[in-house]
Amino acid sequence: MTKTLRLLSLVVALSMAGTGNAQEAPVPRCGANGVALQLLGSGGPVSDDARASSGAIIWINGHARILIDAGGGTYLRYGQSGARLEDLDFIGISHFHTDHSADLPAILKGGYFLANSHKLRLVGPTGDANFPAMTTFFKREFGKGQGAYAYLFGLSTASNGLKLAVETADVDAKAAKPVVVWRGDGVTISALGIPHGDVPTLAYRIETPKGVIVLSADQNGSRKEFVDFARGADILMMPAAIDNDADAVSRFMHATPDVVGRIAAQAAPRMLVLDHFMGRSLRDKDHNVQIIRGFFHGPVLAGRDLSCIPLSH
Ligand SMILES: [Zn+2]
Repeated sequence: MTKTLRLLSLVVALSMAGTGNAQEAPVPRCGANGVALQLLGSGGPVSDDARASSGAIIWINGHARILIDAGGGTYLRYGQSGARLEDLDFIGISHFHTDHSADLPAILKGGYFLANSHKLRLVGPTGDANFPAMTTFFKREFGKGQGAYAYLFGLSTASNGLKLAVETADVDAKAAKPVVVWRGDGVTISALGIPHGDVPTLAYRIETPKGVIVLSADQNGSRKEFVDFARGADILMMPAAIDNDADAVSRFMHATPDVVGRIAAQAAPRMLVLDHFMGRSLRDKDHNVQIIRGFFHGPVLAGRDLSCIPLSH
């Protein structure tokens, strides 16, 4: 390659990098005051939806204090939202499908670059033969000498250059009653097992002085205790993963739109937010939302990546 050609290819490379940066339009900040739910990802496990997978943050007075789920793509959305790791007190993982947990190591890696040590509680379900418990997952990711990312072994004790002290806890996804998993500054978070086929899975209820947010992860809607768990929420978020004509296996894993609508009608939140769209449910999105509206007569928002929904009182 001649010197001129080499220079030309360098200029092209630099200008392409510049274009990439220019395309990163600033994202308006969510939750500067009060409490707000922000979706990081609104998609599912297949990249054909062109959305990040599941993940949401709760903003409290301008700080992203709570993260629920960290599916693929949420690492980027987390950064775009303006959330800061040093503000984060609680991470809840609903279950160990990749579209709810794959970006957790990427987000926690930021703990290497914090200025000061910071404590964080990380909660997830108990395991079974096919899925690890939260504590086991954490060890398999970050365990000294044996984890997939063993180089981050200091994450549990804020050592080895890491500034995060991550305390993990497992919640029995089969327990009959909700379990309180975190309390602080007037906020109480509880978790309840939900029937996502046979995958140990948790839903989270976040009670704040400004109102209540309930985040259901994937579920088929067959557990009546969930309706009580979600009752009185200001915002209830539920997945819109499948159509009403989905096959039996899909229905074992996920709630169809009529089931989502019935649950929302019974739990009666002030607002229903839909997430976890997939290529197949996006094709008929308007129709599916229409079916849900046939049961639930309050406001329904079909979420997008980075949708910001403030609590209005
Ligand atoms: Zn799932």
